[in-house]
Amino acid sequence: MTPLAPILLALSLGQTAPYVRSRVDAGDTRTQCLYWTSSRIVWNQSTYGNPDTQGDTEFDAIRASFQSWQDIFAECGNLTLEEGPRVDEREVGYRRQGDNTNLVLFRTRDCNTVVPAEDACWDDDDCANAYDCWDDDDNTIAITLTTYDERSGIIYDSDISFNAARFSFTTANGPTCFPPVTTNCVATDVQNTATHEVGHLIGLDHTRASGSTMFPNAPPGEVSKRIVDTGSRDFVCEAYPKGQVSQACLHPVTSLELGPKAGCSAAGPGGALSLLGVWALWLMRRARRQEEGP
Ligand SMILES: [Zn+2]
Repeated sequence: MTPLAPILLALSLGQTAPYVRSRVDAGDTRTQCLYWTSSRIVWNQSTYGNPDTQGDTEFDAIRASFQSWQDIFAECGNLTLEEGPRVDEREVGYRRQGDNTNLVLFRTRDCNTVVPAEDACWDDDDCANAYDCWDDDDNTIAITLTTYDERSGIIYDSDISFNAARFSFTTANGPTCFPPVTTNCVATDVQNTATHEVGHLIGLDHTRASGSTMFPNAPPGEVSKRIVDTGSRDFVCEAYPKGQVSQACLHPVTSLELGPKAGCSAAGPGGALSLLGVWALWLMRRARRQEEGP
């Protein structure tokens, strides 16, 4: 046992399960799990991609990340992850009116350098959208912003933002490199990052289980998260079982809470949305799940 072991143990207690589902209140198992009930999740990449990644390879890398999850859904899950057309949209979050896309985008500017200190967006926590910039922690590689119904746990929207203001995203294989060297090597791997973030998008929280795709940290050069680990695979099979409804964690999810057309956890967003219009202000919650850097 190394001298570090007791500290690591203390940090990881209760967080080493093969997978941990996201909750309405993060980490509170008395609250409902977050999950999708629709049979199809369409996601869209921003047209702009990431100018600093070689060629257009970031688009393919992100597609590969979704595909590795989709392969598992095809085998034992009940929904389909489908790429929609690229969009010019640059806003994350959920709007009650208008189109909602499950957007994947790179923020290339740091809000601290482009937003005036007195701008109201700081108080509104909306600078990222207002100025198309990264407004989260500097050491965070990417963030998934999920909007869900706080009673049922049903997810309506989830958007993935990459921190390209701070991190150099690469798609190549090879040795670890550090900016400004980023060719033919791995700085911060797009697919490694995206595979982890898609895990959040479908309702996974972090676990410190060794080798998990959902381990919260990623050092430079890491590519091991490109492949979904077996624990995270089990989450898909168990939370989204093939031929069955998506699984809530707490029962019952009553029809009263979900609206007239909904029953148990089989409720689709369509059923719940009618209620959403009325209750949105206190039923909707946004959760951020982020991947920390080294
Ligand atoms: Zn994460």
